[in-house]
Amino acid sequence: MDISTLSLLHNIFQEVQGKQDWKAALDTLFVSLRGSFVYDNVAIYLIDPQIKGLEVVYARAKGRGRKAEAEAAWGESTANDVLASGKMVLHLPAQGAQGTDRLAQAHLLGIPLNIGSKLSGALVFIRFGGPEFSDLQIQIGSLQAFWSAALIERRDLQEARAELDSVQRQMRLQEDFVSTISHELRTPLGFIKGYTTSLLRQDTIWDETTQREFLNIIDEEADQLTRLLEDMLESARLQSKTIQFKFSPVRMDALVRDVATRVKTRHPELKITFDVQPLPPLHGDGFRLSQVFENLFSNALKYAPNSEIKISMWFHDGKIRITFADHGDGIPEEYLPFIFERFYRVPGERTVTGTGLGLYICRQIVLAHHGNIWVESALGKGTAFYIELSVDPQH
Ligand code: ADP
Repeated sequence: MDISTLSLLHNIFQEVQGKQDWKAALDTLFVSLRGSFVYDNVAIYLIDPQIKGLEVVYARAKGRGRKAEAEAAWGESTANDVLASGKMVLHLPAQGAQGTDRLAQAHLLGIPLNIGSKLSGALVFIRFGGPEFSDLQIQIGSLQAFWSAALIERRDLQEARAELDSVQRQMRLQEDFVSTISHELRTPLGFIKGYTTSLLRQDTIWDETTQREFLNIIDEEADQLTRLLEDMLESARLQSKTIQFKFSPVRMDALVRDVATRVKTRHPELKITFDVQPLPPLHGDGFRLSQVFENLFSNALKYAPNSEIKISMWFHDGKIRITFADHGDGIPEEYLPFIFERFYRVPGERTVTGTGLGLYICRQIVLAHHGNIWVESALGKGTAFYIELSVDPQH
């Protein structure tokens, strides 16, 4: 091998390995070696253990790029032959296929892909019309197969790593949760115990106004405890998927306005503005969808006190879209990806009570409607939650 070939390979190696995304790395690999090996299409087939069949995970067609994936059935039988024999397979055009129709003269080259030393799929090239694949081209193809397998293995490892990180984070959150929840239970219990003991004191006589004031505090704190327990049970049921959703036609605008009215009776100072366009009824569980907005209101009151809340709703492309925005302090960007996780609370000095369950509950309910919920936030400007719900979740 001469120096220029070696330096070319070195450059290709650096460029391919430098790509973070595995498909971009494969693109670079196939494009950069194209000059030495001409073919029409290439595809990677992997065994999908779930469907026990082959899945096209990557495909490139001359000039047509990635759209080719959907049409990559052409190499399936060659890939199956590679998997059955465990060896490289060459398929030449059928006898009598000569003639002017280049597309009828398919040369196929299938090469095994070993991922983690296990035969896991095949890399298949197709070339229409002659000439046959040369030995050198087959070697280049093998190099690409070897390399593709390494890139796919790297992808698998990255995915496994991400999953492990998420499990570890979840475990840490569970540990924090025990201390959060004991604090959250202790605070209302402390109030209840304290005011009850005061009322029961033999040596003091409270006037009726004071008695009522104490009883009101006890009443509110007992409600707080009930809400806390309900949130815990609800999140556990949502996680284990044991909730039966009861779907029926729901008018989202009326539902959100109802929740807003209820919130306003408790917080008459809260300013809520609506920008609502005509909406068709939605097939959903009204009780659960109300819970989503109750949580969003409760968060806005806690984390964006004194801010106005703006709710917009419109219908587009079969979907009802809702934004729920406040002008609070916002959430630092680095925490945004986690706020819908179970038990997650943005770290920092805590003056506001909470369990980290509210947004998790919201997300699970929206997902059960095959919808989407996400957040955008700017520090010092405010936070906006976006919800997208199909009018008919079956579609
Ligand atoms: P909790 O309120 O019990 O902590 P949530 O799941 O409802 O749990 O919210 C998760 C975190 O997201 C909160 O701890 C808070 O830091 C942040 N958050 C939620 N809503 C807002 C908001 N409107 N403005 C700023 N931060 C918010």
